[in-house]
Amino acid sequence: MKLYNTLTRQKEDFKPLEENKVKMYVCGPTVYDFIHIGNARPYVVFDTIRRYFEYKGYKVEYAQNFTDVDDKIINRANEEGVEPTVIADRYIKEALKDAKALNVKEPTYAPRVTQEIKEIIEMIQTLIEQKNAYEVDGTVFFDTKSFKQYGKLSGKKLDELEIGSRIKLDDAKKNETDFVLWKPKKEGEIAWHSPWGEGRPGWHIECSVMAKKYLGEEIDIHAGGEDLIFPHHENEIAQSECCNHKPFARYWLHNGFINIDNEKMSKSKGNFFTVRDIAKEVPYDVIRFFILCGHYRAPINFSREAMEASKKSLDRIKNCVNKLNHLIANATIDNMTEEEKNLDIFKNINSYKNTFEEEMDNDFNTSNAITCIFEIVRLINSAINEKCSKEFLQNLLNELTSLCNVLGILYKIEDEEQSVNVEEIEELIAKRQEAKKNKDYKLADEIRDSLKAKGIILKDTSAGVVWSKE
Ligand SMILES: [Zn+2]
Repeated sequence: MKLYNTLTRQKEDFKPLEENKVKMYVCGPTVYDFIHIGNARPYVVFDTIRRYFEYKGYKVEYAQNFTDVDDKIINRANEEGVEPTVIADRYIKEALKDAKALNVKEPTYAPRVTQEIKEIIEMIQTLIEQKNAYEVDGTVFFDTKSFKQYGKLSGKKLDELEIGSRIKLDDAKKNETDFVLWKPKKEGEIAWHSPWGEGRPGWHIECSVMAKKYLGEEIDIHAGGEDLIFPHHENEIAQSECCNHKPFARYWLHNGFINIDNEKMSKSKGNFFTVRDIAKEVPYDVIRFFILCGHYRAPINFSREAMEASKKSLDRIKNCVNKLNHLIANATIDNMTEEEKNLDIFKNINSYKNTFEEEMDNDFNTSNAITCIFEIVRLINSAINEKCSKEFLQNLLNELTSLCNVLGILYKIEDEEQSVNVEEIEELIAKRQEAKKNKDYKLADEIRDSLKAKGIILKDTSAGVVWSKE
């Protein structure tokens, strides 16, 4: 398996730190609004990479953070006249809804900055003790000159950065490239106690701290959008490697930009789309499919036409699956016939399956992998009819869906109306108890069945009714 490592600027064989295990950290969104299509790309791309590792038999430990304290969150909170936590909680909830609807698996760890302040302060203290950081009037800076390898990820040289910097030299900083680890409290802002006075962490330190806490000092893969290479990921490397005296991540993976109608997406240009907005026009699974139709490192162009084309393509796969299901339900022969056994189709599918894996092994070329799926769809469409046996059809369906599942492109989008919340469940349980008390067993059973349809299982115990998800 080969993957392109931004750090070495070449494709390398994947060698994990521990056998059959992948420790993967992906930078998450800053939660001050609904996630936009630019956030959706790393969500989908790195989820697919995770799924592929799992398909290949690796156990993946996946951490993705939420930046829940930041200027943008504070500004939004001030605009609405609420606490920053209200904004952060709201948009974390919304981001989780979008991620789920995009069929993104839950990360193993999803830490939030505000819950990691103790560890952040500890890492900053270590960096100060080791003379990699210094404090000036309540602000702590990382001393970039203390880390000889600074710039190794982005290929930028410290001297060039200093000359090229148009920012006026901040008098407090030793070097123009030094960055903030801890900033002092401004009037009316959220703050925490620290050895340097009240304040809050700078942005970069959180990912170094969370990666270490949840995955360890050394990890296999660190990923994010290519806009994060400099300075965010460069700074993460400096912090982590100075603190831990070990190489931080073996492989750095970055996804390309999303352009909107061939222009860079920006709020000021007005071509800024949240996933929620797009999902009003096309289903979430089409958004996921669209993202995977391009290679993750290449820029992709988002447009209405591109979405419509993606919808049509995905429908070709779905139609094939529907047709198979229909024929399976109506098949009159159960077992594969001799004639079916002698067909070349399984051999041909297998050959496309091998190509699929080769493409995915080659730096996760989902675009070419999807082409293989379409070839399989073509083979299946030309081989099936009402006379086929159930077993034959079922085997074809299994082949097709197993590859689609590797990419996470065939799934049921949960209707929000259909999903239940805890209060509703409790209410229904109470109603059922009431019905049982009144000996209305029909109603009691109906309530139990309606919950079961939503994946909620009830169990009558001596301590009362307990419920669990299927
Ligand atoms: Zn990060």
